[in-house]
Amino acid sequence: MSFFDTYGTAILVGIFILLFIFETKFQLRKRVQNRWKRIIINFLVSIPSFALLRFLFIPLMVWLALKNEQWQFGLNYLYNAPILLKSVIAFVLLDYSLYIWHILLHKIPFMWRFHLVHHTDLDLDITTAFRFHFGELIGSVFFRGAAILLIGASPWMVLIYEIAFEAANQFQHSNMKLTFRFEKALNKILVTPRMHGIHHSMKKRETDSNFSIIFSFWDRLHNTIRLNIRQGEIVTGVPVYDDETELTIGNLLKLPFTRIREWKESERLEDGDKNELER
Ligand SMILES: [Zn+2]
Repeated sequence: MSFFDTYGTAILVGIFILLFIFETKFQLRKRVQNRWKRIIINFLVSIPSFALLRFLFIPLMVWLALKNEQWQFGLNYLYNAPILLKSVIAFVLLDYSLYIWHILLHKIPFMWRFHLVHHTDLDLDITTAFRFHFGELIGSVFFRGAAILLIGASPWMVLIYEIAFEAANQFQHSNMKLTFRFEKALNKILVTPRMHGIHHSMKKRETDSNFSIIFSFWDRLHNTIRLNIRQGEIVTGVPVYDDETELTIGNLLKLPFTRIREWKESERLEDGDKNELER
């Protein structure tokens, strides 16, 4: 854990500061809300999640992987290979497990209750990366634990993946405008701000795409990718939760325990080439 606190925190805080400055100077999508009001709401919503992540979730996952060094359960304990190769395999498979987890968050109504809080943000920027309901984190303990066991991931890979995951989470939510050519090239491998911006659209068909976390190829592999949407056309949020005055800190924390409104939209959509990124 001291590794995470010393290096992980330093890396993640560094990335946060850089992305915050970049998205201020080079803005990708127009804001519809007051920036500072959102910063306060998103950070306050994140406090219970942060506490759980640091004091329960990460220690538990590392403990499980440590225990598993004795049990020797899971894929990576079944074959002999250099440690580096095993680490890469664990990293890639952990990312795949989270792609599946993200789909479940959207498809299973009980899980959507919690993930919805993240999607109700009417703007998308680096602070959205912290806007997760703590219930979603508690639910993920079982899934992530099972994935670590099945993969046979080492404690080090659990920690390293966690740091990479948080870094990717900040990057893809940021409202930073990269040069189009650079982003298009980067997106062949990684999830980028334009790609993830489409996932936060008020159009159901767009939200139901781009579930990947670090590597973008999971969406390509399963044909859940949708890139041909211009960023200027995206309206961010959930259509039935678009009243800013309703989205207070108290209401957001309570939201999973209320009656969840059905997603409604009227527009008919045309289809183009889903594999081509748009500006
Ligand atoms: Zn989502």
